[in-house]
Amino acid sequence: MALDDTPGFDTLAIHAGSAPDPTTGARATPIYQTTSFVFDDVDHAAALFGLQAFGNIYTRITNPTQAVLEEKVAALEGGTAALATSSGHAAQLLAFHTMMDAGDEFVAVRQLYGGSINQFNHSFKSFDWKVNWADADDMDSIEKAITAKTKAIFCESIANPGGVVTDLEGISKIARRAGVPLIVDNTLATPYLCRPIEHGADLVIHSLTKFIGGHGNSMGGMIVDAGTFNWSREGRYPKLSEPCESYNGMRLHETFGNIAFAIACRVLGLRDLGMCISPFNAFLILTGAETLSLRMQRHCDNAKKVAEWLSTHKNVSWISYAGLPGDRHHTLQQKYCPNGAGAVFTFGLKGGYDAGVKLVSNVNVLSHLANLGDTRSLIVHPSSTTHKQLSEQQQISAGAGPDVVRLSIGIEDPKDIIADLEQAMKAG
Ligand SMILES: *Cc1c(COP(=O)(O)O)cnc(C)c1O
Repeated sequence: MALDDTPGFDTLAIHAGSAPDPTTGARATPIYQTTSFVFDDVDHAAALFGLQAFGNIYTRITNPTQAVLEEKVAALEGGTAALATSSGHAAQLLAFHTMMDAGDEFVAVRQLYGGSINQFNHSFKSFDWKVNWADADDMDSIEKAITAKTKAIFCESIANPGGVVTDLEGISKIARRAGVPLIVDNTLATPYLCRPIEHGADLVIHSLTKFIGGHGNSMGGMIVDAGTFNWSREGRYPKLSEPCESYNGMRLHETFGNIAFAIACRVLGLRDLGMCISPFNAFLILTGAETLSLRMQRHCDNAKKVAEWLSTHKNVSWISYAGLPGDRHHTLQQKYCPNGAGAVFTFGLKGGYDAGVKLVSNVNVLSHLANLGDTRSLIVHPSSTTHKQLSEQQQISAGAGPDVVRLSIGIEDPKDIIADLEQAMKAG
């Protein structure tokens, strides 16, 4: 089957990148569990190493199972190319490493996964990269956070953990004006609910560990290149625009055009930093990706039922789920994620910190753990776990104050999820 722009999302989820194996005819994508690949001859080897030919050398840089996953996610997001990594955090590090130098800055909105807040505030410091924080609901704060050293703006489409929906087009206009790329972490929405490139994103980042893999069994990450950004602008992204010493003076943006960012992440970042995905994990995530729309729709339908039930519960003081009419992000949800508001959201317990600890200790169907996007329903009390490293003020501004409970609703029967939450709230 020849694929072009016409196949629908579900057809792409099954077929994009996954032609039958040319050697064996295997229909499912094989796990190419090999570290290295034999060269045709010396000239072929030289062409591969000099980037004059595409092909496999060593699994740290490319691998055929990994390549199928990259092609599939690029197609689902509407990007020109993609690069898989060992985890979502590795994808973030690799993307920034490709565009930043020591002393550079970027703007991130505060409504982010707690791990990203830590990564940006702490580990990025050793690279001498500085994050300037802004508020996703306040476009002026984003504009004001930009300085002459700003190299990118980073946000999530649906933000973890608050179920916040971000005004991607608003932020993209600011990024365009500043001449910097907009990077969108699309982990919670997945391309089934939102395709950030259609709203102005230049790069899309994923933790494949979550809904795309979808079964809570393997770590993975992805950088999708929209092919839209001019990396040669004013020499501000020298790894892309200037002659590259390790490739005979080749200029990567000039040579590779609208796939240059994905190529640079691979041939510089992945080559030197080494956070490649294992072929086995790529295989498991590919299997998950085939059923993405079926699972996401069920995740969203179940989440809405649980959210509606919680919104009238006597122990619940507030709920942040953009799928509920009246939620402050409902209008943005209908614009950016019309098929559903995702399956991750937070609510507040009137009993505060202690009631949160009690609830997570008494659930049976739900699992108390720090993950999301599993087939199983998951519960966590961020202030005692994922956001514990942050100060109380940082917790509150990240939507993870002491009374907050986060749910990632799975694809079980919704009545059983609700019954479990009900008994756990009653349990003494
Ligand atoms: C989990 C997550 C990450 C980090 O991904 P890992 O695969 O755990 O490294 C980044 N962003 C969001 C929104 C996430 O949920």
